[in-house]
Amino acid sequence: MGGRQVTSWDGMRITVAGLGVSGVSAARALAGLGARVTVVDGGDSEALRERASSLEAGDGIAVRLGDADTLPEGTDLVVTSPGWKPTSPLFAAAAEAGVDVVGDVEIAWRLRGPDAAPWLAVTGTNGKTTTTQMLASILRAAGLRTAAVGNIGTPIVDVVLSEEPYDVLAVELSSYQLHWAPSLRAHSAAVLNLAPDHLDWHGSMEAYAADKGRIYEGNRVACVYNVADKATEDLVREADVEEGCRAIGFTLGTPGPSQLGVVDGILVDRAFVENRQKNAQELAEVGDVNPPAPHNIANALAAAALARAFGVPATAVRDGLRAFTPDAHRIAHVADVDGVAYIDDSKATNTHAAEASLAAYGSIVWIAGGLAKGATFDELVTKSAKRLKGVVLIGADRGLIRDALARHAPEVPVVDLDRTDTGAMPAAVREARRLAVAGDTVLLAPACASMDMFANYNKRGDAFADAVRELAAAGA
Ligand code: ADP
Repeated sequence: MGGRQVTSWDGMRITVAGLGVSGVSAARALAGLGARVTVVDGGDSEALRERASSLEAGDGIAVRLGDADTLPEGTDLVVTSPGWKPTSPLFAAAAEAGVDVVGDVEIAWRLRGPDAAPWLAVTGTNGKTTTTQMLASILRAAGLRTAAVGNIGTPIVDVVLSEEPYDVLAVELSSYQLHWAPSLRAHSAAVLNLAPDHLDWHGSMEAYAADKGRIYEGNRVACVYNVADKATEDLVREADVEEGCRAIGFTLGTPGPSQLGVVDGILVDRAFVENRQKNAQELAEVGDVNPPAPHNIANALAAAALARAFGVPATAVRDGLRAFTPDAHRIAHVADVDGVAYIDDSKATNTHAAEASLAAYGSIVWIAGGLAKGATFDELVTKSAKRLKGVVLIGADRGLIRDALARHAPEVPVVDLDRTDTGAMPAAVREARRLAVAGDTVLLAPACASMDMFANYNKRGDAFADAVRELAAAGA
């Protein structure tokens, strides 16, 4: 919405790190504003070269392939893509030269004009995409012009520069993006949960938590935290916010004052109501949330809290939740075969996510394994053991899960497929079928990343769904 700060970019010499989606979007936007842009990327593939030629010819952007480590002469600012580790040599070179390093979110924030749409921001180890999309759905139900952006959808720089007149944006932010966005100041923000993940990137749990906590910096209306996850509340306490900004908790239990929670199957608000000591506002029913698994009710409450902080009426919360359908591979019901439900939660790429989805079912044959990214599985197995009917293991780091099962659930039958090839999924599904009886759930919630066997978690989930459909067809 109008009035951008164009002049400050004119003639600025900017190095963009990474020729991926966000790098290309940032490079184009900055070049369009008059900056002299060079993109650097360590790769030198055919695909990258093609992309480079199009940027060089079409946008007057210089591209340097095959060297991601040295800083181009005269750089005033480095704009990094989210995946680049803070320890990358390019950033060391920038520090040496006294040059700032920022990410695409920081650029987007700096490009906003004074009357631009405010941001309602969401982060957390798990549930970010779901919550951000729920939030956008609620805002839309309230008649507001909005989009779910950030770590999802259209690159955020493009959204900020578009002519689209947004009233408010629902912004998903990863810990990487927060790390590189020092001046971001959201209207209100939520940290959904905090569990060890991406520690190889951040260096330590403390550094990871500190980056997540930056989302609260300068919040104006509400800092939304998870009552069941004290670490999120601690981050609120440590944040430097605007005068009058409130801490709002969400809980699956009965809410106290300044909280949203659940009472007798109803989502209720005791934060954004008159006289919150005595009053509560009914928002929606648990059944309005899709799927109504406990962790997803928590996501819905967080989304509702942010929407309510923005002044959205209760009926819009209900309508927005009803209108919402989750993205693929997030607790997606694929089929019932012989009374056994097959659920694809391929997006459960870490132990915290897998724990949430295992908690949503009673008697489970669990398909797990992949790349552990430094995780341990003792806690996950201990908490989930009583629900496990059997386990089928695939992938590179399956031995870690097998050992945890041997330690904490020795009575649970385990089939170790001893395979890391893409074709292993149909075999895993057949083994799972053998272990399951009517009433059980076969759950793909790998607790690991997929890249040892598949291009990404989507492909892993598709392979599972294909195998289940084959099973269903063969049984028919
Ligand atoms: P993100 O964007 O943070 O990766 P998603 O919304 O895509 O999160 O959900 C990823 C996975 O995390 C889901 O498939 C589910 O297994 C799990 N999950 C979702 N919400 C939560 C939550 N609030 N707590 C724990 N796990 C969750």
